[in-house]
Amino acid sequence: VGADVLRRQENRESSARTYARSLPIVPVRASGLVVEGADGRSYVDCLAGAGTLALGHNHPVVVAAIRRVLDAGAPLHVLDMATVEKDDFTTALLDTMPGGPDGWRVHFCGPTGADAVEAAIKLTRTATGRHNLFAFTGGYHGMTAGALAATGNLAVKAPLGATALEVTRLPFPYAYRCPFGIGGDMGAEIAARYARRLLTDSRSGVLPPAAMLLEPVQGEGGVVPAPDGWLRQMRALTAEHGIPLVVDEVQTGVGRTGAFWAVQHSGVRPDVLVASKAIGGSLPLAVLVYREELDTWAPGAHTGTFRGNQLAMAAGAATLRYVREHRLDLRAAAVGERIVRELRRVQADRPCVGEVRGRGLMIGVEIVQPDGEPDELGARPTAPALAGAVRAECLARGLLVELGGRDESVVRLLPPLIITDEQADSVLSRLADAVAAAER
Ligand code: PMP
Repeated sequence: VGADVLRRQENRESSARTYARSLPIVPVRASGLVVEGADGRSYVDCLAGAGTLALGHNHPVVVAAIRRVLDAGAPLHVLDMATVEKDDFTTALLDTMPGGPDGWRVHFCGPTGADAVEAAIKLTRTATGRHNLFAFTGGYHGMTAGALAATGNLAVKAPLGATALEVTRLPFPYAYRCPFGIGGDMGAEIAARYARRLLTDSRSGVLPPAAMLLEPVQGEGGVVPAPDGWLRQMRALTAEHGIPLVVDEVQTGVGRTGAFWAVQHSGVRPDVLVASKAIGGSLPLAVLVYREELDTWAPGAHTGTFRGNQLAMAAGAATLRYVREHRLDLRAAAVGERIVRELRRVQADRPCVGEVRGRGLMIGVEIVQPDGEPDELGARPTAPALAGAVRAECLARGLLVELGGRDESVVRLLPPLIITDEQADSVLSRLADAVAAAER
């Protein structure tokens, strides 16, 4: 059955959607970290829907929450009405918010992260009366018009010629390939000074924006954690200039980085938080949570048919509570630290590993050309073919990983937060073997 399904989908899915080709697996069963293919093979899932599956596949509390809604005969879809499931989800969500549950408004978006980013852009434009946006090099915010304009990866934008929105691009503090050739704390300091200069120098030619949009840890951009000090500087700067700070926690949220929301590491309270992926407990759900002072848009200003699906809200509420009650954020921090430490040992023996970095269970291994010419900071050129080979070798060893970053040269691990120590060991040994095999 697996081979038939793959062959038919090869012709039915558009070639723009390459997933079916890059991971030729037809999953028929899944539980926890393990996905079973129609061919009977098992895979350890460290892709996990790009970080969506905080509790892994088919966690019993998620399945039970979905069953409860079905068994109660509750409506599966309603519009413009309050429901018990919505009430329960918003209670669970607001309880997680930085600084406590008060003073926030929740807006349910069309079920993807990109739609919530669109909503954030529209809301802040309405609230400030401004239209420009500050966004960062290497940032990823989704594939719809506004979210794509905010995205920093030219490969997905260049074919369109122009983007839908005026965006001022600021340097993100990516120490390994520092845009200023400085790296470390000083690179981040200069990035912060540059942002400040844009707003304070009348010769910068830049109007104050409707919002500053950033990821606390860039995900698709190659797993680049923002230093806490830099984030605090961005908070101070935006507060001084009356600019809403929008944090895109679509990938970083729900415990993944070692705090429930990644901004909590720095103590920063954003004005707007964009969330999706894990908040739906593996079903599609996206929300915008924002300070009530920003609640300036008119009824109907951002609508959509599928907003806040009942099953997703039930699965999501169960997930949010489980992560909090079991302190899976702390678990993610501890296991993540261990995985990074072990991978740095691998790096010592493998010249193709340029850098290992991460926060919690958002981990990146930057693959470089082993004998390429290093730049002024010692980083060798990206190695997309080699990174692809690592991914293929992982697949051959039953390990699913994701690529991202500059030229798709960063191998990304986003395992469910319920990963056990034994599973972490197995991931490490498979990945180490895969890197060795790809390098040969
Ligand atoms: N923002 C971030 C930080 C993301 O990682 C993603 C998806 N990878 C998005 C937005 C877009 O979410 P979606 O794919 O659900 O539209």
